[in-house]
Amino acid sequence: MSYTGPDFDPPPNPRSRRRPLTVAVAALVCGGLLGWGVYAATGGTDDDGAGARTEGSPSAPSRTPSQPASPSAGDTEGSGDTEGGGDEESPASRAPSASAPAAAGPLKGKVVVIDPGHNPANFRHTAEINRQVDVGTHRKECDTTGTSTDDGYAEAEFTLDVAHRMRAILQKQGATVKLTQDRDRPYGPCVDERARIGNAAKADAVVSIHADGSGAGNRGFHVILPGSVHEGEADTRAIVGPSSELGARIAGSFVRVTGTAPSNYIGGGTGLVTRKDLGGLNLSTVPKVFIECGNMRDGKDAALLTSAAWRQKAAQGVSEGIVSFLRG
Ligand code: ZN
Repeated sequence: MSYTGPDFDPPPNPRSRRRPLTVAVAALVCGGLLGWGVYAATGGTDDDGAGARTEGSPSAPSRTPSQPASPSAGDTEGSGDTEGGGDEESPASRAPSASAPAAAGPLKGKVVVIDPGHNPANFRHTAEINRQVDVGTHRKECDTTGTSTDDGYAEAEFTLDVAHRMRAILQKQGATVKLTQDRDRPYGPCVDERARIGNAAKADAVVSIHADGSGAGNRGFHVILPGSVHEGEADTRAIVGPSSELGARIAGSFVRVTGTAPSNYIGGGTGLVTRKDLGGLNLSTVPKVFIECGNMRDGKDAALLTSAAWRQKAAQGVSEGIVSFLRG
């Protein structure tokens, strides 16, 4: 299949004229899924497995492709693996644009916060990251180490790599881009601070980048949307709508650009899941979603996640969703 290449230079956005918005979102998702169906039919990949879900929620049921996602435990903000294995630095992470001022472009004046999940050094700071923080609805760990592939490629390395690639893409579009962490602190930040960084930046969109740690056979990506929460410091009521729109656009463009399928183990094939237990979402006052780009514990997904070329597509897929959301 031919998908948009890594040099994302959006055309004069034919999507921007679509009305009403709900139709635009549906079209993006359906178009994306249609694209996936064509891809699957050509034998690009296959998804025939299922099993226990997901990073940090071992109690969730297996083989529930149509079950609405409402995990009662667990947290894609964290999982138990401690491998600190690394991979090559992405070219994007060394690109001069990483620290360049925002360029002129369609996103000029827009602020995007990218939250690379976890931190490659968290495993050296277990006491600090296990400290409980208030996320409005409950208290939970400051941060977690994240998962890794069986070969030791750490989720925290993956998230930074994709974040760097996204920053380069979005800066090229004129956006002001801020990362919540960039190996510039010994651990964390804690999940509550991650949310507050986006709030303080008055971000127009925030995306938290993750990869899942579910069972082998569980494949594909899913975007996590904030549920409506109003408890303690948490009040997501104003961001549920726009975050849902942001997430739907990201899911649609991620399918289209990467050619990978929505999760076969959560979200009922939509690639969209709503959760109320994530501090990073509950404490956000600006539109925000998480994306689990794939399952590091599945061999086929791991082959994608460890591929720099695929990570570039992943970064582009997420970024195109953000651009679409911000341009309306
Ligand atoms: Zn994670």
